[in-house]
Amino acid sequence: MSSRFTWDAPGLNKGQFIALTNLLSLRNGRQLQPPSEQASEFGNDFPQSNPRVKQRTDSSPEDDLKQRFLDRLAEVISKDKRVEYVACTTMKEYQDHVKVWVACNDGLDENDKAFLCSFSAKMSALAIIQQNSLWNLLLKHNTPRLGVYASWVSSKDHQLSLNTICDENMKKTLNDFLDTIEHRSSTNKFDRLCCLALQIRDIPSAQKMIQDYLKNGKCLWKSIIFLARFRRAYLTFCEIAQTIPRFCSLEFFPIPKIITPCKPPPLKLADTFHLLRQPLNTTTVHRFVARISIQDAQQRFDQRQKQSLHVHAELQIVQHLLQSHIHIEDIFQYMGCSKRNCFMCKTFLHIFCHVGTRGCHGKLYNQWSIPEISGIDDQMMQELEKTVKQILEILLQELSKPIPTCGAVPDSSAGTTTIHTPMGSDITPDWDRQILNALHTYFASQWRIDWSQRLAVSATLAQPYLSVITAKGEIYPV
Ligand SMILES: [Zn+2]
Repeated sequence: MSSRFTWDAPGLNKGQFIALTNLLSLRNGRQLQPPSEQASEFGNDFPQSNPRVKQRTDSSPEDDLKQRFLDRLAEVISKDKRVEYVACTTMKEYQDHVKVWVACNDGLDENDKAFLCSFSAKMSALAIIQQNSLWNLLLKHNTPRLGVYASWVSSKDHQLSLNTICDENMKKTLNDFLDTIEHRSSTNKFDRLCCLALQIRDIPSAQKMIQDYLKNGKCLWKSIIFLARFRRAYLTFCEIAQTIPRFCSLEFFPIPKIITPCKPPPLKLADTFHLLRQPLNTTTVHRFVARISIQDAQQRFDQRQKQSLHVHAELQIVQHLLQSHIHIEDIFQYMGCSKRNCFMCKTFLHIFCHVGTRGCHGKLYNQWSIPEISGIDDQMMQELEKTVKQILEILLQELSKPIPTCGAVPDSSAGTTTIHTPMGSDITPDWDRQILNALHTYFASQWRIDWSQRLAVSATLAQPYLSVITAKGEIYPV
């Protein structure tokens, strides 16, 4: 029977959900605090694992390659660095071909669709012979993004200090890189820059040499790793086409832009504090928001409450799969993303379907929302309602914690990780654990943990599934 997920269901309240999201985003600068050591321990009374989801075993090298393929594909589809272009991918494999669903925060335009058609054709060509036409296509589509990376570097800043580097190979390659930066933007320029960046990236101690000895070395290094990652994406596509033949036959499903969800009348700050069972006064503002006046807090809160809602690319993919009656447990249990997920998307994916991703950057975007979704299976509608209720509880629980004081971490994974290790290595563990802790505290409050029975918890970063290991050695996926 076809059902519709709406915010009118018992126990759901969109206005409250939005207000709590805005309050949490306001008080912590949109980023959540890493967990304490104590908070990473779990109790022994967890809910049963989601019966719809196949339990994953250890991922194989082939699975790692597929995960890298999905992440690299999301990256090259995201042709510009702005948030509107954040992209996600997921896929279902058949014997002789692969279906790939693609979503972008601000929807895919005609150029993106043409790019996907060409990409599919070039991947087919890779089955016959490795050639440069796929590489040229990637360069052309991503010119805006590559231009941003190149703009972070000024050759003049670095040429003078190059002599401080003793490694001759490194010095020569860097010199070529900086010479090329000065050329006018073109496919040839970015081709050379990306290849040189990958060469530099693969030199041992390159990061230390650049950051320690060159003026503005951090900017230069950031540019190098992003450009190198782009070249690495091409090599990943070649690798998967050569090792798993069905990836030479890709069928793309670009997901159309979702209409901006409507908003209920916004709650005032005092009403939102009421949800936390707190009065609105200077003490509670200092405790739950920041050391600012009530008027200031009210003004900042109202500003957020007025903003329109967004459906992030991750949610767009889930919505599309549900409406197409494609069982999420039948797709490859990993979602490729051009960036790490925000706190809300990661929490949603973890609770709703356990699909793995590259990790979470910990930020909470106040305009995040789940749209009303019609034409879905009744069971999925119930699961969605349950998930939203659990996220609501998590928001309340996060708001009851002391205000964090830590600094921000970048959204992107490229600045914090190596670029060619198997997937999962580009996850910042603390932020991934943040999600797990939030879930843990929630489940602990729901299922009455016996704290005298402290149990170990395993959170595999490459496939963020929780397992509770009891003192008897029994393993329960959560
Ligand atoms: Zn998100």
